[in-house]
Amino acid sequence: MPIDVPKMDTAFTKLGLSDALAFGVQEMGYVEPTPIQAQAIPVVLSGRDLIGSAQTGTGKTAAFALPIIQKLGTHGKLRCLILEPTRELALQVEEAFQKFSKFTDLRVTIVYGGVGYGKQLEDLRGGIDILAATPGRLLDHMEQGNVSLANVDILVLDEVDRMLDMGFLPDVKRIVQKTPNTRQTLFFTATVPPEIASLASWALKDPARVEIGRQRSVAETIAHAFYPVVASQKFDLLQLLLEQTDFKSVIIFARTRMGSDRIADRLQRKGHTVGVLHSDRSQRERIEALEGFKSGKFEVLVATDIAARGLDIAGVSHVINYDVPENAEDYVHRIGRTGRAQNTGDAFTLVTEEDVRDARSIERFTGMTIERKKIEGFPYIYSALFDEKAQAEVAAAAAKPVSRLHRGVRR
Ligand code: ADP
Ligand code: MG
Repeated sequence: MPIDVPKMDTAFTKLGLSDALAFGVQEMGYVEPTPIQAQAIPVVLSGRDLIGSAQTGTGKTAAFALPIIQKLGTHGKLRCLILEPTRELALQVEEAFQKFSKFTDLRVTIVYGGVGYGKQLEDLRGGIDILAATPGRLLDHMEQGNVSLANVDILVLDEVDRMLDMGFLPDVKRIVQKTPNTRQTLFFTATVPPEIASLASWALKDPARVEIGRQRSVAETIAHAFYPVVASQKFDLLQLLLEQTDFKSVIIFARTRMGSDRIADRLQRKGHTVGVLHSDRSQRERIEALEGFKSGKFEVLVATDIAARGLDIAGVSHVINYDVPENAEDYVHRIGRTGRAQNTGDAFTLVTEEDVRDARSIERFTGMTIERKKIEGFPYIYSALFDEKAQAEVAAAAAKPVSRLHRGVRR
């Protein structure tokens, strides 16, 4: 049942995409393809395997979704599977496929954990072309005989770095093994940690590589600041930062689930509207938090790193790291929630004495020097953090074991 669309001549048709798809993205307000789209779309159309990497917020979803929809053409069997590390990402990708395929008769559905099986079973049985899934729930459905991957022509592993971090490798391998050997396989990732290479050599055949930008780079539209503070004053400083900042919507990242609940409680008592997103919350609560934040019902979203990667939330003006991420790469992902699609954003990070090393490793990883800021009028408790010399000593101590190790290796 093809639907009539006008004849198109745009940057998207020049990449080989059909009028229907070019019309669809135009309706969504896309004018030019992003660099990853410009390079990946022709490769995916050609049928070749691909490893595509580009920082978060650069449009990787459309880079695979558009050419896949084109290749599938019209409604038939389940021919495309997209694996996502979290439920939120799976939902987001499914939604993107729904929008892009609006002018086709392709059917898209999603399966993920934490909710009942009934609706998913019904959708799977109804006949679908494209399935977005998290690995655990998909395996459950496969074991119950609810879904067959025997006709999958195109397999996408999205956010592969995150998938590996979350320990999904065994599940992913079991799923991949159930798809035909003749399939086209696409990897998309923000970063390319070394573990990806071995999975790639196992799952991909002679892949093309499209790598956009420096892996460690952060959007240039974001302003960064470190706020040194002693641990006992963190919440007070956060409170003052929120008061003094003219923010539209802010995500606050905490290291632990309990920590994020605590921060949310305290902020609520101070009169803020707050949503919480972490893996101890039920699926319904998570959706409510996310939707509430997106719609403006909550001005603040407190989250653990589960929310750090890939979530596309428009108009986040500020990201505040209440806790410094332990892993420098996570910093890049967390602040990737702001400054998306050329909007400006601010990223504030509270840094205690214990975090000095992690803060420096963020600077090393991103190749930036981040300004240390103090808030005028805040009753700071004295800390060596404010003492340049003491900081230099901490840095020297942190650097030492590394240099010793290097010498050891050379000998
Ligand atoms: P990534 O997966 O690389 O983190 P997404 O695919 O989630 O990024 O896209 C980020 C945002 O950019 C989304 O809101 C998407 O609609 C938007 N976007 C993607 N491609 C374009 C484009 N060509 N023009 C304008 N906006 C785009
Ligand atoms: Mg993505």
